[in-house]
Amino acid sequence: MIQKDVIIIGAGAAGLFCAAEAGKRGRSVEVLDHGKKVGRKILMSGGGRCNFTNMYAEPANFLSENPHFCKSALSRYTQWDFIALVAEHGIPYHEKTLGQLFCDNSASDIVDMLISECEKAGAKITTRCEILGVEKSDSGFAVKTSQGDYACESLVIATGGLSMPKIGATPFGYKIAEQFGLKVLPTRAGLVPFTLHDSDKEALEALSGIAVDTSATCNDKSFREAMLFTHRGLSGPSMLQVSSYWHPGDTLHIDLQPTESAAEYLTQAQKDNPDAQLSTVLGRYYPKRMVQTFIEMNDWPNEPVKRLTHSQIEQIDSTLSDWQVAPNGTEGYRTAEVTLGGVDTDELSSKTMMSKKVDGLFFIGEVVDVTGWLGGFNFQWAWSSAWAAGQYV
Ligand SMILES: Cc1cc2nc3c(=O)[nH]c(=O)nc-3n(C[C@H](O)[C@H](O)[C@H](O)COP(=O)(O)OP(=O)(O)OC[C@H]3O[C@@H](n4cnc5c(N)ncnc54)[C@H](O)[C@@H]3O)c2cc1C
Repeated sequence: MIQKDVIIIGAGAAGLFCAAEAGKRGRSVEVLDHGKKVGRKILMSGGGRCNFTNMYAEPANFLSENPHFCKSALSRYTQWDFIALVAEHGIPYHEKTLGQLFCDNSASDIVDMLISECEKAGAKITTRCEILGVEKSDSGFAVKTSQGDYACESLVIATGGLSMPKIGATPFGYKIAEQFGLKVLPTRAGLVPFTLHDSDKEALEALSGIAVDTSATCNDKSFREAMLFTHRGLSGPSMLQVSSYWHPGDTLHIDLQPTESAAEYLTQAQKDNPDAQLSTVLGRYYPKRMVQTFIEMNDWPNEPVKRLTHSQIEQIDSTLSDWQVAPNGTEGYRTAEVTLGGVDTDELSSKTMMSKKVDGLFFIGEVVDVTGWLGGFNFQWAWSSAWAAGQYV
């Protein structure tokens, strides 16, 4: 039996960071992961450059059944604390857009930093370790694994969500929560591209690869970012963001002219350039393929703009400012960046991340029902929740 103060299951962002924090307090810590490598999601995040936090992170950027739960951890370990750590390790980084901080070189800089923090704190990391069972014992927990049996006082579950099963995501954390009688809220894929009904897909297929500036709204939440037409449906930051607010049957409202109004520029064109075709005028604002598709799809008259009636201009304007699309679903966990739902925050202390029912059992990171927007917020939750638990395990 290998005796440790703290066993952490999951060597992802939250697990590694928690291990370093607990180790710094003099606790003997071992992180167990079934994968070959640690931090696999970090390595593929942010297109290989890891959007490791967001300068503007605040509780409003997170979805949860209890939106107040994340406040405590986020305020005790902030984005500025993590940025200071990154700077201390000499990792070059930059702001890409909207406060999103990315590594200049590679996401592996962040993984190397976490491993070095664990080493400094004396926390051990064991990979290729299958967890065969977890039981409560008199002094804490017994963890049976393919690499031996462990006993620990504190057990931290940091196994993340269900997205990207190909790189090791499993429902392990939810199962442990249920085994110990904790409520798990229904899960669904978030930050995920939409798929379309066949008729829309056929009409829009030709636009695959085109990105446009949008403001997309779903269930009263709006995001002003780019949208990308794909061969399966709609993606790009604005679509990923609203996907976290979307439920089957909901309609997306997409403003394709967040800066310029077609009513204004078409009316102006009737004065300045009356013989220009509708497609020529719209072509100044949108890619040509998109103009063609929208003209065909909506039966707009592709004639000299002088012939457009007021009501035709109004109709074009309203379609472009509130293009309504009802997706038939999402691409699901295969491509989702996050999992919404998870371990009910009512079951956990927001100060320590420990279960209110089971002494010594902690849940951190994505396995908890706290999900960030796109833009570095999910890693910030991993760091903040891991730090909070790291002070108490
Ligand atoms: C493609 C992609 C890009 C992303 N980009 C960003 C980004 O740029 N910025 C951002 O903020 N967020 C991003 N995210 C989200 C972010 O990666 C996650 O929210 C974050 O990694 C969650 O951290 P975690 O430690 O809770 O879980 P994870 O990082 O998922 O770690 C969980 C660990 O647990 C292990 N594990 C799972 N099941 C078991 C088991 N049964 N036994 C043993 N070990 C197990 C896994 O192997 C894994 O190592 C991205 C996600 C994806 C999929």
